[in-house]
Amino acid sequence: MASESAFKIRCLACGAKNRIPQEKAHLTAKCGRCKRPVDTRVLFLPQPEVVSDADFERQVLGSPLPFLLYFWAPWCPSCRSMSPVIDALAKTAKGRLRVGKLNVDQNPQTASRYRVMSVPSILVFDNGRLAETLVGAMGSQDLMMKMARYL
Ligand SMILES: [Zn+2]
Repeated sequence: MASESAFKIRCLACGAKNRIPQEKAHLTAKCGRCKRPVDTRVLFLPQPEVVSDADFERQVLGSPLPFLLYFWAPWCPSCRSMSPVIDALAKTAKGRLRVGKLNVDQNPQTASRYRVMSVPSILVFDNGRLAETLVGAMGSQDLMMKMARYL
C-alpha cells in the first residue's frame, strides 16, 4: 500500500522514482540515484490543467508524476456527467497523480496519435508512456478504484 505521508516523483534526468516525505516536499530534493535535483513544484500545481496538442509532450510525457488525461468534447452528453467526476479526482489526487483535460475538437493531433475514437476517454501515462486506457463514462467510485495504484 502507498504511504499517505510520501510523494513519489520521477527524476526526469535518470527516470528513478524518488519517495519524498510530505514534510520535505517544500524543500529542494535530490534524486537518490543520480543526485540531480528533483523539482517538487509539480506537487503544488493546480489541477485539472488544460492540455493542448502544443504542450502535450511537455506536460504529459514529461510529467514527473503519473498523468491522467481526460479526452472530451463540448458536444458529448456523457462528457457533461463525466467532467465533475474528473474535477473531483483532480482534487483528491493532487500531488500523486496529475490530472488534465484535452478537448479533442481543438486538439485532434493528440487524439489521433493515441487512437482516441470516442469521448469520454481516459488515458493514463506513467514514465512518459501510455499505461492505461479507459473508454466511456464512469462514476467517481469506479474511477477511484481504477486509479487506486496511483493514489
Ligand atoms: Zn535521477
